[in-house]
Amino acid sequence: LRYVYRFGGGVSDGGNGDKNLLGGKGANLDGMAGIGLPVPPGFTISTAMCTRYYDEGGKFPESLKAEVADGIAHIEGITGKMFGDEGDPLLVSVRSGARISMPGMMDTVLNLGLNDKTVEGLAATSGDARFAWDSYRRFIQMYADVVLELDHGSFEEALEIAKEDKGVHLDTELTADDLRALVAAYKKLVDQQWGKPFPQDVHDQLWGAVGAVFGSWQSDRAKVYRRLNDIPGSWGTAVNVQAMVFGNMGETSATGVAFTRDPSTGERAYYGEFLINAQGEDVVAGIRTPQYLTLAARERAGAKAASMQEAMPEVYDELARVFDLLETHYRDMQDIEFTVQQGKLWMLQTRSGKRTAKAALKIAVDMANEGLITRKEAIGRVDPAALDQLLHPTLDPKAPRDVIAKGLPASPGAASGKAVFDADTAEKRKAAGEDVILVRVETSPEDIHGMHAAKGILTARGGMTSHAAVVARGMGRPCVSGVGALAIDAKAKLFRVAGREVKEGDLLTIDGATGEVMMGEVATVQPELAGDFGVLMEWADEVRRLKVRTNAETPLDCRTARQFGAEGIGLCRTEHMFFDASRITAVRQMILAEDVTGRKAALEKLLPEQRSDFAEIFEIMAGLPVTIRLLDPPLHEFLPHEESEFAEVATATGIDIDKLKRRAAELHEFNPMLGHRGCRLGVTYPEIYEMQARAIFEAAVAVATKLGEAPIPEVMIPLVATRRELELMKAVVDAAAKAVFEETGTTLEYLVGTMIELPRAALKAGEIAEVGEFFSFGTNDLTQTALGVSRDDAARFLGVYVEQGIYAKDPFVSLDIEGVGELIEIAAERGRKTRPDIKLGICGEHGGDPASIAFCEKTGLDYVSASPYRVPIARLAAAQAAL
Ligand code: ADP
Ligand code: MG
Ligand code: MG
Repeated sequence: LRYVYRFGGGVSDGGNGDKNLLGGKGANLDGMAGIGLPVPPGFTISTAMCTRYYDEGGKFPESLKAEVADGIAHIEGITGKMFGDEGDPLLVSVRSGARISMPGMMDTVLNLGLNDKTVEGLAATSGDARFAWDSYRRFIQMYADVVLELDHGSFEEALEIAKEDKGVHLDTELTADDLRALVAAYKKLVDQQWGKPFPQDVHDQLWGAVGAVFGSWQSDRAKVYRRLNDIPGSWGTAVNVQAMVFGNMGETSATGVAFTRDPSTGERAYYGEFLINAQGEDVVAGIRTPQYLTLAARERAGAKAASMQEAMPEVYDELARVFDLLETHYRDMQDIEFTVQQGKLWMLQTRSGKRTAKAALKIAVDMANEGLITRKEAIGRVDPAALDQLLHPTLDPKAPRDVIAKGLPASPGAASGKAVFDADTAEKRKAAGEDVILVRVETSPEDIHGMHAAKGILTARGGMTSHAAVVARGMGRPCVSGVGALAIDAKAKLFRVAGREVKEGDLLTIDGATGEVMMGEVATVQPELAGDFGVLMEWADEVRRLKVRTNAETPLDCRTARQFGAEGIGLCRTEHMFFDASRITAVRQMILAEDVTGRKAALEKLLPEQRSDFAEIFEIMAGLPVTIRLLDPPLHEFLPHEESEFAEVATATGIDIDKLKRRAAELHEFNPMLGHRGCRLGVTYPEIYEMQARAIFEAAVAVATKLGEAPIPEVMIPLVATRRELELMKAVVDAAAKAVFEETGTTLEYLVGTMIELPRAALKAGEIAEVGEFFSFGTNDLTQTALGVSRDDAARFLGVYVEQGIYAKDPFVSLDIEGVGELIEIAAERGRKTRPDIKLGICGEHGGDPASIAFCEKTGLDYVSASPYRVPIARLAAAQAAL
C-alpha cells in the first residue's frame, strides 16, 4: 500500500485522478499535470493516510517517512533545488484537500522551507532581498496561525505597526530591511506565545504542517461543515506538498482566481480577478482591490486599474487557452487558481466551480448545445433543490426602494430581514422565527452557521470570489459583498452609511442581482419561467416516466401549478375550502347540529359553494385528473372559539347558545389525530360525504358540458384501515354519481380510491384494492402512524434524533425509505396483485423531495404530487431518477 502520489514534470502517479483517494485538489493537480499543463511539481499524501493517522491515535507510520522523502526528491529533481539547502533552497506549499472542497479545513501554508539561513540563499539566488524577506515573514505568519495556532491578531498588529512606523499603507511599500525587522518581531511573538523558538529545521516544519492538515479534519469548524452538508467523517483529507511558484516577484508576477464561465449568470465569459506582485490568498482576503481579468469586465465595472488582458496580454492568452483545455477535459465549468512568476503561468488548482441555480441552468443548457455534454448529462447537472432559488419571487422593479448603498452582486436573489452583526445572533433569531440579514465586514468559515441561518448576507469587504460570495452562492443565499461605504461597528451592533444608521433588528433588503442595499422591505414579483429553465424542463419531461401532479385547492395555487407544469391534481384538500369566511358559519352549523335533519340543512347551504369551487378547479385542470379528498380533519378544528362566533351560529340555526357550547365541549378529543376523522366521519355522518360527492359530480358534468372536455374526478377516501370502510364509502359516492348522472343525462368517467396512510391499510392493500381503484400514499400520516411520531410534536426531539443518526434526515421531509418505504412497497405489490392496473401515487410532502421521488420511481408509482412551487423540482428529480 502506498500513500504518496507524485505529479508534475511529466509524472502523474494518480493515473486517472481518483478524488476519493487524492482529494479533489490532489486529483485535479494530478489530472492537470497529466494533460501537460504547467503545474509546479509536488506530491499528494492520500486520504487513506488520514484515516490510518486517526486509527493509530494521531501518529504517522514509520514507513511514511521514506515515501515523503521520495516525494521531496521528485520535486528536487525537477526544480533543481534542494529542500533545506542554504544556497538555493526549495520552498513548498502544504495544502489540505478533501474529496470536496471544504471550508473549515486547515489553511494552506506557503513558503515552507525558509529559515534564518535559507532566506539568505533565496535572497542571493533571486537577486531580490525584499522578495525573500517578504516570503519569510509570510511563512512565519501563516505557520504561526494555522500550524501553531497562535494569536493571529498580534501578527497582524506587528505588520500594522511596521507600516505605521514607516508611514506607508501597503505591504508592498515595505523594504527588505523593514521586512527583516518584521521577521525578528514575528519570531519574538512565536517565542512568547509558543514558548519555543520558531522551528528552523525544514523537516520539522514539513511534518508540523502535514500533521496540522490531518488534525484540522477533526476541527470544530470542519465538523460543523460536514454536518450541514452530509459529509461523512470517514472520508478524511489528503495533503498536497508542492513546489512554490512566486507571484510576489515584482511587476511581471501575479496571483489570481478565475472561472471559465460567469458563476453568477452562467454567461460564457471568463470571469476572474488577479493581483500583481502578490501571493496566495491576497486576492480573496481583500488586502488590495483586485483587478479584473478581462477588458470587457473592467469596462463594464468602470474600473481604472488595467485588466490582465491589457497588463499581461501574452500570459492572458495562455490562460484562456488553458481554460478551454480544462473545460474540454473536465466537461464542466472550472474554478481555477493560478500564479504568474516573472511572466510564466502556473496552474495551482482547478475544480468544478460553484454556481448559482441560474448559472447552473444556463451552463448545462449551453454545454449541451455546444456538444460538450449530452442532454441527459445536462439534466443531471442541475440540483433540483436549487431550482427553488429561481422559482421564488424577485424584487418588484416598480416597487419603491430606499437604496442606501451599493456593492457587488455576489449571489443573486432578493432577501429582506432584520440586520444582525454576528453569526450566533443570526442563528438565535432564526430559531425564534425571524428573517435576518447577516452583516459582516467580511465572512470567514466561523460564520458558516450564521450564513446558513440568514436569508441574505451583506459584507463591506471582499470581491466576487470572496468567502462570503462563494459560500453564499453555494448555499443559494442572496449576497451583496464589498459594500465599501458601510462603516460597520460590530461591537455596537450597527453600521453607518450615507449619513444613516442601521441598528440590529432594523429591516433591510438586499438584491443580490444588482448589489443594491435598501432600507425596509421591498415588494416582490413572480419569476420568469421561460428561457433556459423552460428548455431544461422540456428535456427533463422527455426522459421522465413519473407523472407530476400538484397538491392544491385554491384557484391561484392550481393556476401556479399548471404554469409550473403540473399534470393534474394529486391532492385537493376539501376542508381548506371550509374555512372560507363566507362558509364557516354553515360548516359550524353542520358540525354542531344535533341530528341528521340539522346537518342536512347546513349541508344544503354548503353544496352550491363546494360545487362552484370544484367547477373552478376542473376548468383550470381541464382534461387532467383531479384527485379530491373528502373531508378529513377532526371536526373540532372548525369549532367556534369566540363568544361572537357562537352567537353567529346561534342566530343561523336558532339553537340556544349554551346548548351549542355544550355540544362543542362534547366534541373535544384527547388524541384528535387518531380520533373522529377521515372516513370515520363519512361512516358516522354519510350525509357529509354524500354532499361532497354530489358537488363533485354536478361540477364535473357542468364543466364537461361547458368546455366539451371532461375532467377526470378521482374521489379519494381518507384514513381507511379496512376494506369494509372503503366499501361503505364507495357506495355513498357511487350513489351520488348515479343520481347526478340520471338527473343531468350526462355520464362521466370517475374513479373511487383511497389514501394509504395507516400501516394496516398498507398491509391489507390486497383486500382494499378489491374495492379501491387507486391508492395515493399519504406519507405525512403514514410516517406519523408508522413511526408513532406526532408530526406536530416532533420538533422537540427530532433534531436530536437526526444528530444521533437514528434517522438520517427528518422523516417528515425525506421519506424514511427503510421503514415507511417498505410499507409502500408492500402496499404497491399487494394492491397490484389484486388489481394489476391500479393507479398509484404519492401526495405527502415527500412528493416534492428528490430522494423520495427517486424511491417512487424505483417502486414504479405512476405519479408524485407536490406543492405548486415544488412541481418543477419534482419534474427534474423524476427525470434524474429515470436516467
Ligand atoms: P484553498 O483550499 O483554501 O483554496 P489552496 O491550497 O488552494 O487553499 O491555497 C491557497 C492559495 O495559495 C492558492 O490559491 C495559491 O494562490 C497559493 N498557493 C498554494 N500553493 C502554492 C504554490 N505551490 N505556489 C504558489 N502559490 C501557492
Ligand atoms: Mg485553492
Ligand atoms: Mg392524512
